[in-house]
Amino acid sequence: MSSYETEHASDPPNRSEAQPRRPDLSSFLSLLSEVTPDRPEERSREGAVPVPADVSAVFRSLAEAFQVMLRINDNADSNLLESMIENLMETAERPPREVKGVDEEYIAALERVNVKKVKKDADCPICGNAFVEDAHPLLVRLPCHQSHIFDLECIRPWLLVNGTCPLDRIDLAQRERDRKKKHLEEIKKNAAPEDEEEEWDGLYG
Ligand SMILES: [Zn+2]
Ligand SMILES: [Zn+2]
Repeated sequence: MSSYETEHASDPPNRSEAQPRRPDLSSFLSLLSEVTPDRPEERSREGAVPVPADVSAVFRSLAEAFQVMLRINDNADSNLLESMIENLMETAERPPREVKGVDEEYIAALERVNVKKVKKDADCPICGNAFVEDAHPLLVRLPCHQSHIFDLECIRPWLLVNGTCPLDRIDLAQRERDRKKKHLEEIKKNAAPEDEEEEWDGLYG
């Protein structure tokens, strides 16, 4: 006899108890993949240029997810979250030509912070949950400031579309674009052939 116990013995404990409640971001992420130019392989409409309505939908979708977070989470810092929601709604009203957030590569390279290294009462500035109360904490530090530590799950969607630190508004995406541009220029400079000069030297020397 296959009892309920044997079949379900390995089920994880009630997830809602072990994990802070978070809004579902799947529709936001699929909308985002439609308009993000550097991931064309994920687009369902091949070769389509993002239309303003699609870009708007991305920002509106994240604003809605954050509104859910505000509603279901008593710990949420309503001031910060409300200003983030407001910012997203304003952007949805006047959508940019393209989404200027950071890419997944940037997110993956963010410094991970061990939960044991943060203060006991430290919480995520976005959802307000204490890091130590999370059964599976995944914390990242933004490069703008030592103390700007967030749940990866909370900061990731914001950075993907906005690219700024919500606390000090430093534009990390712009910084990254500048860094890449400078890096490319340096490669070009180093790769520039110096033979031409030598030839001229030979001619006149
Ligand atoms: Zn959080
Ligand atoms: Zn910051």
